[in-house]
Amino acid sequence: MTPPPIQSVILAGLLGLLVGSFLNVAIIRLPAAMSLIRPRSHCPRCGETLKWRHNIPVFSWLALRGRCAYCGTRISVQYPIVELATAAIWAGNVYVFGLTPHAAQAVVMMSILLAVAVTDGREYVIPDELSLGGVVAGLAMSFLPGSPTPVGSLIGVLVGGGVLWVIAIVGTKIFGEDAMGGGDVKLMAMIGAFVGWQGTLLALFVASILATIVFVPLNMRSKRLVPFGIFLAIGGAVTFAWGERLLDWYMTGFA
Ligand SMILES: [Zn+2]
Repeated sequence: MTPPPIQSVILAGLLGLLVGSFLNVAIIRLPAAMSLIRPRSHCPRCGETLKWRHNIPVFSWLALRGRCAYCGTRISVQYPIVELATAAIWAGNVYVFGLTPHAAQAVVMMSILLAVAVTDGREYVIPDELSLGGVVAGLAMSFLPGSPTPVGSLIGVLVGGGVLWVIAIVGTKIFGEDAMGGGDVKLMAMIGAFVGWQGTLLALFVASILATIVFVPLNMRSKRLVPFGIFLAIGGAVTFAWGERLLDWYMTGFA
């Protein structure tokens, strides 16, 4: 495949900045059940509505040195980081996959997963608008050429949601407390919609390994709740990007 023209990669990156800016709004407002449209962006401290020049992704944050233009309250570095990460997702996927249906699926899936990872990390919440919205988006986009097929996508939803649902039920029986939230079940259904059932199992496998590596040492010192959605999100993105290669490597290496 010939690499896409550099203009389309740059344009995808700029579009990603705007999408990232919107994701920031969604990350703050969806867990609080607030409207995404009203009120317009404002400072949480002084309440001043932001002018457009205070609202340019990344650049405004840098120009204002991470402070509100009116009252000087610190603005979280989360804003520019999410914007830059989304830009990287968009530019990177267009660079690798070109202007293809596969790239379109990748940017939609990974943008949603990024928002999920941040809300789960901040508040241990995965808003239905993201997870169930992602199920709908994944099923709809499975009608584009390439994998998964619509049937494969639907099976992915059922297997992904089903496996985690069973884990949640069994885990609750064994440990007597909620081992897995309903948000994780819906998130896994969404990942299944994009990667099909084999990909779903790989994503779960990757997520479990990462969660074990990161959280077992942390849990030795403090009993912290594990925001497992972060790891599922990473597992899903890794599977979408490198799933076939990982499965090949596993098959040739161990089977
Ligand atoms: Zn302010």
